[in-house]
Amino acid sequence: MDLVIRNGTVVTADGVAHADVGIEGGVVVALGRGLPTGDREIDATGRYVFPGGIDAHTHLGRHRPIEGVDDFLSGTRAAAAGGITTVLDYVVHPRGTSLATQVARWSQQVEEQAIIDVGLHPVIGEPRPDVLDDLPALVQAGHTSFKFFMNRNFDSAIPEFLAALRRVGELGALACVHAEDESLIRHLTERLLAAGRGDVRAFPDSRPDYSEAVAVGRAVAYAQATETPIYLVHLSSRAALEVVDAARDRDLPVYAETRPIYLYLTRARFEEPEANKYVGYPPLREPGDQDALWGALRRGLVQVVATDHVGYTLAHKTAPGLTVATIPAGMANLETMLPMLYSEGVARGRLSLSRFVEMIATNPARMFGLFPRKGTIAVGSDADLVVFDPNRRVTVQAAAQQSQADFDVYEGWEVQGWPEVTISRGEVVFANGVVVGQPGRGRVLARQPFQGG
Ligand SMILES: [Zn+2]
Repeated sequence: MDLVIRNGTVVTADGVAHADVGIEGGVVVALGRGLPTGDREIDATGRYVFPGGIDAHTHLGRHRPIEGVDDFLSGTRAAAAGGITTVLDYVVHPRGTSLATQVARWSQQVEEQAIIDVGLHPVIGEPRPDVLDDLPALVQAGHTSFKFFMNRNFDSAIPEFLAALRRVGELGALACVHAEDESLIRHLTERLLAAGRGDVRAFPDSRPDYSEAVAVGRAVAYAQATETPIYLVHLSSRAALEVVDAARDRDLPVYAETRPIYLYLTRARFEEPEANKYVGYPPLREPGDQDALWGALRRGLVQVVATDHVGYTLAHKTAPGLTVATIPAGMANLETMLPMLYSEGVARGRLSLSRFVEMIATNPARMFGLFPRKGTIAVGSDADLVVFDPNRRVTVQAAAQQSQADFDVYEGWEVQGWPEVTISRGEVVFANGVVVGQPGRGRVLARQPFQGG
């Protein structure tokens, strides 16, 4: 065997076992105690061996140079350093562009830059007939999830967007939905600006929980009407979760993701100096929303935690003259998502080890057509693995990270547990603080059709 990871505690969604992991040709070929010596050995005594993390929500591809400072090179380096071996990146679809051309452009960037594997979710930004005509070939090529933004130009073209949603379902793909109500947000934002309350302290009032919940309710009805499964990205509020809960009680194909900022931070952050750095869509909410999200993770109402990583700098986020309508939304999070969820979730007794692995690897793999190739540790699966030291204590510092962003919203947080070695298809890409994976070794993933969560 090329590599044996010896004496570790192997954790999957199904349970925990003491086993060695034998790897050959980039895949797991043996699991069990006392495997024969490999060409290379990693001693994982006292360590967990997790499936490599899958971050189902990133923004690393570039349409223009101004959209952020991370690309597939710095972004996938950050991912590897954070125990993540696959990212799923959103392909933007600006007005007037061809979706197929945008996907080709993203694929080229991945092939040149990425050090781990990358799946692509094309955004359907404009539901034009020629865009719908491109969908079968995109699905055929393994791009089996498409994104809809209800917070942008959705309300001016609802019938066309519903036709696009139906097409996505007919092709066996999954619709990722950003559920915030465009018309309510526009109305409330205009009112705030007119009242001279355009600064960041009022940001949550421009996009309240009910603007999320009503959009989730509409999205559920659209899923039902178009017979298309939907995956609600980055839910933030108790009100939205209640709508998802009711939909799942009715056995509708509705799935949910949340994002670390909503688990760890609340709207009180918007009173801080430089509070623009905390702006993402939707906004940070109240402590009660945070409690509801942790409860939803525990009982599986939310299946996936993903970053929505965008590498903005502090200068981008805090430029003079920005208002609630124009502060760039998003922040870097790829390097800290997995260890912080371990620290705040598992180490604090809020999540079991297996639930943690489900949310960061197994569920996103199932949802996005990658299971069992990825998202688990099994004979025949890709050897995408992370050797994790549950006792190592690290203080989060942006200056120590691979991301080109120059701030971290968790600066100074003490975290218990950190990735020690990250392995992508059998190759060590990160070890003991150093990224060693080479740009261009990552591949664009051809994913299977949606088969249910
Ligand atoms: Zn996003």
